[in-house]
Parts: sequence; structure tokens; C-alpha cells
Amino acid sequence: MASSMGQTEPSFRESVDLMFNRAVALMDLPPGLEEKIRVCNSTYTVRFGVRLRGKIHTFTGYRSVHSEHMEPVKGGIRYATEVNQDEVEALAALMTYKCALVEAPFGGSKGGLCIDPRDWDQHELEQITRRFAYELIKRDLIAPAQNVPAPDMGTGEREMAWMADQFARMNTTDINARACVTGKPLNAGGISGRVEATGRGVQYALREFFRDPRDVETTGLSGTLDGKRVVVQGLGNVGYHAAKFLQEEDGCIITGIIERDGALFSAEGLNVQDVRDWIVKHGGVSGYPDAGYTADGAAVLEQECDILVPAALEGVINMSNAARIKAPLIIEAANGPVTAGADDILREKGTVIIPDMYANAGGVTVSYFEWVKNLSHIRFGRMQRRQEESRHALIVNELERLADAMGSTWSLTPSFKDRYLRGAGELELVRSGLDDTMRIAYQEMRNVWHGRDDVADLRTAAYLVSIGKVAASYQAKGL
Ligand code: GLU
Repeated sequence: MASSMGQTEPSFRESVDLMFNRAVALMDLPPGLEEKIRVCNSTYTVRFGVRLRGKIHTFTGYRSVHSEHMEPVKGGIRYATEVNQDEVEALAALMTYKCALVEAPFGGSKGGLCIDPRDWDQHELEQITRRFAYELIKRDLIAPAQNVPAPDMGTGEREMAWMADQFARMNTTDINARACVTGKPLNAGGISGRVEATGRGVQYALREFFRDPRDVETTGLSGTLDGKRVVVQGLGNVGYHAAKFLQEEDGCIITGIIERDGALFSAEGLNVQDVRDWIVKHGGVSGYPDAGYTADGAAVLEQECDILVPAALEGVINMSNAARIKAPLIIEAANGPVTAGADDILREKGTVIIPDMYANAGGVTVSYFEWVKNLSHIRFGRMQRRQEESRHALIVNELERLADAMGSTWSLTPSFKDRYLRGAGELELVRSGLDDTMRIAYQEMRNVWHGRDDVADLRTAAYLVSIGKVAASYQAKGL
């Protein structure tokens, strides 16, 4: 294994292990348990053929289960040409720690298929996805009580709907079949707010960070999110939603957007929605009219800004560029964007990192809500919403009656009445549950970060909290 302090760049999986080891060194776990938690329980590799365009194409896929201290295990399925066993195992480990940290009652898993989805049309992708799902379903690697996949890079609602349908076809009498995957479209058993959930979670994480001036002070920044200069790497589902919400709702100025084909920058700020529309239409950022452009996207990572949001691939901040990163605050919207080697360099420089296992946990949190919705077979809010509205109307009417009886000109503003009288639907409840989850998990990390002299950073604090929970769960089982 490469040393984080040495010259070699640790791989993604080595990075996760190094970060884990740094945290467990500060804990008092029985050595056997430490090893049990670290290792990946199993990885299933499948190679299958699909007849397409007149010939048989062989595809390779993985589903890795890192820890089954709680079941089902949970984690996305990624479609990308770089997918490999080491990557899937590192991602599965992160899922274990992520779920523990935000108290989503799952073990950790992850899957991947070596494929560039852009090489295939929709019908072909459906055939490939159904065949991959078939292989996983027949081994219980997709099953509501055992293993529940979700979208990840290169997959989305469409693929989840195909997988759920494939499961239903193979399990015709399972009343909970819909709970076999999350991230489905609303009309196939999905939940409102799942698509935006990871980006929304990044926003809530930053809001919570900025609520405590002591935390903000550690970065050398001050004040609120309003006016903060943000550089986002990757305008996919996560980066797009995070940047859009931060710009539209928190007053952040998006000064840089990095994509596959280069980067856009503007000191006055880029319009996230316009840039996204441009990318969808033209396939990249180049040619976008209202900003500076450079083909050297990596250079913009090193640009002066307040908050850097890596929201694409792992390992983009590594030992070759970490020393030149100027942002005092990094929030890891992607999984593993900072290598263990870069983490050491940045920690030394005083850069504050809000770690991936917390920062991007919004996706799995709302997946948890979707899974519960599927098992309870009812939309959130369906029973309470109107009842809540009528109780609020009772108060409003009574207040107005009293004011009238006293001959007062006092009245409630129409906008207050409008907001107060509206009962919460599914989307409001999902946002409230996500906000609560992100706040509580952050507070647990913060207590360790500020409360222990031997913990200097949020990542170590996050590992301590989550490993502690996984260990407690194993110990309760008598291990
Ligand atoms: N792929 C997402 C992640 O890495 C979501 C996983 C899920 O919802 O199960 O966290």
C-alpha cells in the first residue's frame, strides 16, 4: 500500500483505507473488529453477452457488498468505462460509512458496469440494463430486503425503472417488489425530490456549516453563504443541482464551471441554468457566449474562490495539484474527489474539507425515504395534509374572529396566511427530512471535530462517528 506521506499517489481504494486507518488509530476497537469493518465482504463479477447490431457484445459488471451489519445493503450502480473492482469496492466502503453517518439503516454496497452509455441508443441500453439486472436479481444482489441499488454516475431514473420492472417480472408475487431499487421515476414508485436530493444535500450541508461562525472562521471566511464565490467541477445531476440552489437560493456567485471539454469562468458569476441548457444542447461548455473559456479545465480548480465543489470523478484533487488549490473550503459533492495524499497536503495548508461521506449523503437519505414509501405503499403526507390544513385554518379563523370582535384593524398578511395554511405535501416532507438529517449528522461530526484534541479535521471526525456506529451495531450482534 502506498503511504499517504510518501511520494506515490494512493489509489482510490488505498485512499479510503488510509483515511479509515487514520481514524481507527484514534479509536479503541478490538483489532479483529477493526479488520472486519475495513474489509469488503464480497464482490460479484459478471460477464454477460447481449446480441446487438447483429453481433454478440460481452459486458462486465460488478456488485460489491462492503458491510452487512445492516440489511438491505445500499448503493448506486454506475455506468462508466473506467469502472473496475477496486473502484466499486472503495465506493461500497464509502456507502457503509455514509449510511451510518446519516443513520440510513443500511449496509454499504456499490455496483458498476463497464460501458459508455453514450455509445448505445435507448433501446440497446434497455436490453443491456435488463440483462445486467437479471444477473444480479437471480443472486439476490437486487432484492428489497437484501440489496437495493440506486442511480449513480451514468444512470438515472430510466435505468432504475427498467431494473424495477425486471425485478417485478421475476418476482410476480412479491408485494414489496418496488422497494428493490430507489431513484425510480415518480410514476414507477419513486419519491418527489430524489433527483435533486444529492445537490440539495450539498446545499443543506453548506448552510449548516455557515450557521456556526466558529466553523466559518476556521476557513478564514466570514459571514453567510451570500456573495461567496463558488467553483463547481462537473455539471451533472449533483453539481448542477448544488450550483443552481446555491446561486438561486443562497446568493452564491458561481465563478467557475468545469466540464469534460474545458471550463467557463466569470468574476460576475455564471448563470447555472443557462450553462446547463447550453451543455444539453451542445454537448459541452465550449462556445458558451457569456463567459471566459479555457480548454484547460484543471486550471480552474486552482482558481481563487471561496468554495470549491468537486462534483464529478474521484481523484481530481491529488498530489500533483493539491498544493496549488486556493479555495479555503472544499465540499466533496463527488465520492473520493480528494486522494489521501492530497488530503494530507490540504490539511497541512489549513484547507477545510467537508467530506464526501457526509456532503453527498443527500442521495441515499432520500433513497431511504423512497424505500420506506415503497414498503408502506402510501405517499408521504397523504393522510395528514388536509387535516393539518384544517387545523391551521381553525387558528387563523379564530384569530380573525377575535380581532373583529375587539374592533381591531389588525390582520394577518395574505402571504403569511397562504404559507401557514398550506399543509406539507411529499416534497416538503422530503426536504424537511433531508434538512434534519444533514443538520444532525453535521452536528455529530462537529462535536468530535471541536471536542477532541486529537481530531484536526472533519473527515477524521466523520469516520470516527460512522465507524463507531458500525462497530456498535456489530457488537450488538455479538461479534
Ligand atoms: N449513488 C448515490 C451515492 O453514491 C446514491 C446511493 C443510493 O441512493 O443508494 O450515494
